[in-house]
Amino acid sequence: MTMESEVVRYERTGPVARVTMNRPEYRNAQNSAMTYALDDAFYRAAADDEVKVVVLAGAGDHFSAGHDIGSPGRDVDVSFERRAGLWWDHVGKPGGESRYAREQEVYLGMCRRWRELPKPVLAQVQGACVAGGLMLAWVCDLIIASDDAFFADPVVRMGIPGVEYFAHPWVMGPRFAKEFLFLGERVPAARAQELGMVNRVVPRDRLAAETTDLAERIARMPRLGLALTKKAVNQAEDLMGLRTGMDSVFGLHHFAHAHNAEVGGDSLAGHDARSMRSPR
Ligand code: ZN
Repeated sequence: MTMESEVVRYERTGPVARVTMNRPEYRNAQNSAMTYALDDAFYRAAADDEVKVVVLAGAGDHFSAGHDIGSPGRDVDVSFERRAGLWWDHVGKPGGESRYAREQEVYLGMCRRWRELPKPVLAQVQGACVAGGLMLAWVCDLIIASDDAFFADPVVRMGIPGVEYFAHPWVMGPRFAKEFLFLGERVPAARAQELGMVNRVVPRDRLAAETTDLAERIARMPRLGLALTKKAVNQAEDLMGLRTGMDSVFGLHHFAHAHNAEVGGDSLAGHDARSMRSPR
């Protein structure tokens, strides 16, 4: 039941599908190839009647360092088959049009699509869960973190108000969301649990086993009951403004990209993976 692919692994054991981001040499930085491979994996898990629960994991020492802004596999100028929405291909389009079409598709569109997967999805998080990595954890229903995990969104350094999937005030509360964004500092797993952003914190060497155990216990519930329950809570979050809030912030996010491009010629304000990683 194992399908090896370059950037995402898919395996099923009993009722649990395990989807593993597999670019450990780049701390699972998310390029478009990975985004579309994740989408394939989630689609497969959703369609498979044998699968009741899905686990999203990252190979190696880190869950995800975020969007790929500097690895050799960076593919921002590559066309992929459109699937999350109906936005046209971003490649070859001028300025903000390219950025907007691309980010609607691979960030906002894909993340919303995955959040709607009608089976419980558990994030299994170790090490770094940073910026674009947060989006991957946040679209999951439960987050199980190891005691060495940390969470951060440092993109205010780029002059940008948070990652594209702007769930911050809903997953950690508005007061702490401001601190999280203003400082961009690492928040340890234990603190993230206090804030309600993480369900459980377990020792690193127990992470996979504890996550699998939880997934198997959830999998004993009836499939439709789980799907309706997930939908019920997601609808409640949307009634609390998650979806519309995110849409409004997506405009601010793109204003920030455009401002950076206008004053400096680069939508990321001159930052790359190295400068974003350096401590301040
Ligand atoms: Zn962006």
